[in-house]
Amino acid sequence: MSHNHADCIENALKVAEELCLQHKQKLTKVRRRALELIWESHRPLGAYQLLAKLSEEGFNSAPPTVYRALDFLLNAGLIHKVESMNAYLGCAHADKKHKGYFLICEKCHNVMECDYQDIHEKLSANVAKNGFLLRSNTIELIGLCQACQNSGNAN
Ligand SMILES: [Zn+2]
Ligand SMILES: [Zn+2]
Repeated sequence: MSHNHADCIENALKVAEELCLQHKQKLTKVRRRALELIWESHRPLGAYQLLAKLSEEGFNSAPPTVYRALDFLLNAGLIHKVESMNAYLGCAHADKKHKGYFLICEKCHNVMECDYQDIHEKLSANVAKNGFLLRSNTIELIGLCQACQNSGNAN
C-alpha cells in the first residue's frame, strides 16, 4: 500500500479529537497514544503488543488500563476488533455510520475495511430466518492484497 501513512494517522487523531469533543469525552494521554500506536500501520495490533509498547514509553501499562483504553476506543468507533486475528485496527471512517467487511491479507497481514451496508441487511434477515440470535456480525475475508499480488513471492 503506497500512501503517505502520516496523513492516515493525522486524520485519525483529528477525527478522534472531534468525536470526543462532541460527546464531551476526554481523549486522555493513554487513549490518544493507544490510538496512535494502533494506527502505526494498517496491520491490526494485539492487546499485548500494545501493552508492551505503552510500557516501553513509561505509561501505566497494567492490563486494566490498556483494556479500558481499548474499550473506550472501540465504543467510540475509533477502532475495530478483527476477531480472527484477536487484534485492533484503526477505523478510517469513524465519523460516518458504516458497516462492511474486512479484507485480511494472509501474507502481509494488512487489513482493509470496506463499507458494504447492504450485505449486512441481507445477512441479518437471512440469519433471523434461521432462528439464530446474532451477537457479532463482523465479516472477515482472507486473501492477498493488491501489493502482495504484485510482488509475486517476495516477502
Ligand atoms: Zn470502521
Ligand atoms: Zn498483503
